[in-house]
Amino acid sequence: MAKETKLYDCIIVGGGPAGLGAALYTSRDRFKTLILEKFMPGGQISTTDRIENYPGFASIDGPGLIEKLQKQAESFGAQIKTGSEVTSLVKLGDGNIEVSCDKDIYITRSVILAPGSDYRKLGVPGETEFRSAGAGVSYCGTCDAPFFKDKEVVAVGGGNTALEETLHLSKFASKVTLIHRRDEFRATRVLTEELLQKANEPDSNLIIKYDTIATAIQGKDRVESVKLKNVKSGQEEDYRCDGVFIFVGMVPNTGFLKGFVDLTDNGFIKCDCAYLRTKVPGVFVAGDCRVGAAMQLATAVGDGVVAAMMLKQYFRDPNWWNEKVSDILQPGGW
Ligand SMILES: Cc1cc2nc3c(=O)[nH]c(=O)nc-3n(C[C@H](O)[C@H](O)[C@H](O)COP(=O)(O)OP(=O)(O)OC[C@H]3O[C@@H](n4cnc5c(N)ncnc54)[C@H](O)[C@@H]3O)c2cc1C
Repeated sequence: MAKETKLYDCIIVGGGPAGLGAALYTSRDRFKTLILEKFMPGGQISTTDRIENYPGFASIDGPGLIEKLQKQAESFGAQIKTGSEVTSLVKLGDGNIEVSCDKDIYITRSVILAPGSDYRKLGVPGETEFRSAGAGVSYCGTCDAPFFKDKEVVAVGGGNTALEETLHLSKFASKVTLIHRRDEFRATRVLTEELLQKANEPDSNLIIKYDTIATAIQGKDRVESVKLKNVKSGQEEDYRCDGVFIFVGMVPNTGFLKGFVDLTDNGFIKCDCAYLRTKVPGVFVAGDCRVGAAMQLATAVGDGVVAAMMLKQYFRDPNWWNEKVSDILQPGGW
């Protein structure tokens, strides 16, 4: 294992939108910045060919946007090491942080954690094959609903996100069928009532099927139907649709951080949501891996920017780490 003796000002874990957004700001502020990325830069958004909700671009493809973000960060001196999976971090006695990858060890004054999340999968046949909005499987209604204007879609899930996204889909699709494996939703009562009210309207385009699971997503070149099974009666049907939206949760990529920072029961990194500080001084968090994240491209980039801005405050005065957000938010307090 090679140990670099060079001291970085900031090491960013993850080269997705949050990590690249952070790197642009830290490197432009002349902080020696290194991004450690386990695969190639880009993260989740590199798998999509059409983004319509990133401010400033009417439409752009994921890889194209990432190339611009990466070039911009590198033009100010940010270094990116690909194929470098971070496996552990340790806070040293002198206040610096040791970051270990499978092959190398680095030392840095600060860290921005941006390892992102993955959508939880149903794990049924056809899900991977049709995984793109173009082919019909999506995990983000906010991102992809407009591509299903006047089409028929099936949504899967029963929590807050599933209900919110289903209501959003119903503004675009001609028919939305929400399937849920139980006989009642886990979502808040307010949201559940709103959904039920909408489903009960005359000529509603919203249908709810309880006690129902999807066992396969089917089609030739794109989604044409989904195989549904009623878990109580065991009855199966082929249900026609143009798309399947899966809202069964997110899995943050934070297993390697257990014991280093605090995580929620679901694995999201705990932080103060104003300045994105974790419990470890000098370690910030940004993007989809943090508690309360909006799970959007623009907010991930925005998080990266916030963390990079706050890093300067920490370098100026390490005691700032322990200040409560509410004190700092007093007018003139920051
Ligand atoms: C198909 C698809 C389409 C989408 N479309 C839209 C859209 O149209 N609009 C929108 O706003 N949002 C969209 N999103 C959501 C958006 O992509 C995410 O909100 C955003 O990518 C989150 O950025 P992030 O940097 O926090 O995490 P990620 O994008 O997940 O990036 C994290 C990076 O960290 C790396 N990493 C993880 N663990 C480690 C480790 N231990 N060591 C080193 N590197 C590590 C990963 O390889 C990855 O590159 C879409 C998502 C998907 C999957």
